[in-house]
Amino acid sequence: MKVLVAVKRVVDANVQVRIKSDQSAVDLSNVKMAINPFCEIAIEEAIRLKESGAATEVIVVSAGSDVCQEQLRTALALGADRAIQVKTDAELQPLAIAKLLHKVVEKEEIGLVILGKQSIDGDNNQTGQMLAALAGMPQGTFASSVKIEGEEAIVTREVDGGLQTIGLKLPAVITTDLRLNEPRYASLPNIMKAKRKPLTQITPEELGVDVTPRLATVVVNTPPVRAEGQRVSDVSELVEKLKLEGVL
Ligand code: AMP
Repeated sequence: MKVLVAVKRVVDANVQVRIKSDQSAVDLSNVKMAINPFCEIAIEEAIRLKESGAATEVIVVSAGSDVCQEQLRTALALGADRAIQVKTDAELQPLAIAKLLHKVVEKEEIGLVILGKQSIDGDNNQTGQMLAALAGMPQGTFASSVKIEGEEAIVTREVDGGLQTIGLKLPAVITTDLRLNEPRYASLPNIMKAKRKPLTQITPEELGVDVTPRLATVVVNTPPVRAEGQRVSDVSELVEKLKLEGVL
């Protein structure tokens, strides 16, 4: 079974982002970029499936300009077998990405697709669900455990108020939640080896997908600054303050 992992290049989670002065977007100049954390978990899960014998090949795919090859190479260093860049400089929104991934899934005859549950930049949480709908595949979103049993993927999902375990008939789409696994680090020899692993390019036009954005961003704002808190020494002081401020 071939496993396809969708990998997105995003601002590193430790970076304090700035907004462009015209409030059109986040300023990405000179900002450290990384693999979206949920995609790292997706890569790790795919590699574990290969190590356990459930998967035969792990293919990573990223849609974007040439800079996303950096994240694809990292994924190869982590253990993926080969990479595909869907090469475009266009702004990509979840529906366009889902359509591109759908075409790659068809072309490569993929048995399981693993995506992150969301990108930490746009926080969309849409691509996996849209891909499943377009491909007519069952979906297991927010996965905290994945097991392959014969023709099925047994997925435990993190849902409101607990866990839900479902059986998905393969081929299927899974999106990863934080507790699915702890991703490994790439070793230096594997980083060197990754340079020689295959990375192919294909364009949206070659895949027959129109990626024109459907949504327009009106304005991007920073979250409101939280007012400074006050320390109280005990409960009675707290109650007194709340009474004075009319809360009680
Ligand atoms: P989102 O729907 O934007 O929150 O993204 C969910 C997941 O879709 C990500 O964790 C990735 O696995 C995948 N994805 C989003 N954007 C891209 C992209 N440009 N290239 C490849 N995969 C992507």
